[in-house]
Amino acid sequence: MTRVYLDHNATAPLRPSARAKMLAALDACGNASSVHAEGRAARATIEEAREKVAALIGGAARNVVFTSGATEALALALNGAWRGPQGAPDRLLISATEHVAALEGHAFGVAATILPVTRAGLIDRAAFEAALAQGVHGGGPPLLCLQAANNETGALQPVADLSARVRENGGLVVCDAVQAAGRIPATFESTGADMLVLSSHKIGGPQGVGALILRDARLQCDRPLLRGGGQERGRRAGTENVAAIAGFGAAAAEVQERGPAEAALTAALRDALESDLLRIAPDAEIFGMDAPRLPNTCAFAIPGTTAETLLMALDLAGLALSSGSACSSGKVRRSHVLAAMGVSDHVARGALRASFGWNSTRCDVDAFLSALAPVLARIQRKSPAN
Ligand code: PLP
Repeated sequence: MTRVYLDHNATAPLRPSARAKMLAALDACGNASSVHAEGRAARATIEEAREKVAALIGGAARNVVFTSGATEALALALNGAWRGPQGAPDRLLISATEHVAALEGHAFGVAATILPVTRAGLIDRAAFEAALAQGVHGGGPPLLCLQAANNETGALQPVADLSARVRENGGLVVCDAVQAAGRIPATFESTGADMLVLSSHKIGGPQGVGALILRDARLQCDRPLLRGGGQERGRRAGTENVAAIAGFGAAAAEVQERGPAEAALTAALRDALESDLLRIAPDAEIFGMDAPRLPNTCAFAIPGTTAETLLMALDLAGLALSSGSACSSGKVRRSHVLAAMGVSDHVARGALRASFGWNSTRCDVDAFLSALAPVLARIQRKSPAN
C-alpha cells in the first residue's frame, strides 16, 4: 500500500539534496578539529553548512551554534546564563503554547511568567504588557521566549511587534523558528529576535541536529551546557556530527530557494483539504482558521470522534497524521496548546493535525478524504448517540 504522509510538522521526509550531502560526508573520514587534510575537509564541510544555515535566517555564519536539535538549542538559549548589552536577563516571559522543550527545558524556575493566549492562540497583549511592566518595579531585563509558528495549530505570533517592546525594555528575545523556517519569512529582520532556534528535520534535513543562532556575537553565554573541547567557539563542546550538519546545510539551502513556492503549494493543498473536510464533516472545528497561520498546517476536531480512534483508522488506511504534538511514548496526550486556547477537553480529545511539505501532492488530499468518509461513517454507526 502506498503510504500518504501528512505529518511534516512532526518530521519532514529527508530531501534528496540533504541525503546526497550526508552520504558524501559519511564516506569521508576526519575530525574537524584535526589539522591534517582529512580534518580540514571535515571542517570545510561544516563551515559550508554553517554559511547555508546562516543565510536562511539572515545571520552571520560565525554566530551559528550547531546542536543536537532544537530541544538542545532551546535549553542553551534558556539556561539563564546569557548577557546582552543591557545585562543578564533574570526573568523569563514565555507563552503558554510554546513547545515543551522550551516550557520544560528552561532554567528560570519561579522567575518565569507564563503568558496566556487568545482563542486563536496568539499572545494576550494585555498580559504581555503587564508582565513587561513588572520589571519596572525592580526586576532585571526580561527574556522573552516565543515561537514564530506553533507546531500544533500553525498559529503565527506577532514576534516582531513583541520583540520591539522587549528591546525597549532592555531585554532579549529567543524565537523558536522551528516550524516557521522555510514556510514563512523567519529571519532576524522579520522577527527582531536576538536568538533564533532551528531544527534540521522540520525542513527536510536529518534528525538529531539543529542550531541556536545569535544575532550579535557580543551576546555572551557565561555557562555553556557542554564544556570540553571548545568546539563551536566554546559555546557547545563535542565532536561535530559532520554528516548531519552537512545534510542540515543542504536542506537549509534548498528551503531558502524553494520555500516560497513550497508554501504556495502547501497552502493550496491545505485549503483544499479544509473545504472538503467541512463538506464531509460540516460540524468539524478547524483551530485558528481565521487567524494568521502557517500555510501547511490544519488542526481540526470532528465532534463525536477521538484522536486515537481516528489516527488508528487512518493509519490502517495508509495515512500518517498526528494528534497535535507527537509524544515520545506514542500515546496521545492532552494538548497543552489547545487547553491554553480555551478549547474544551471534550473537543480537544478529537484534535488531529494534517501538515504538508515539500513532497506533498493533491493525491495526498484525495487519499485523506476518501479514507476519512468511510472511517467517520463506521465510527458514527458504532456510536449512534453521537
Ligand atoms: N520547537 C518546536 C516548535 C517543535 O515543533 C519542535 C519539535 O517538534 C522542537 C522545538 C524540538 O525540536 P527537536 O526535535 O529538533 O529537538
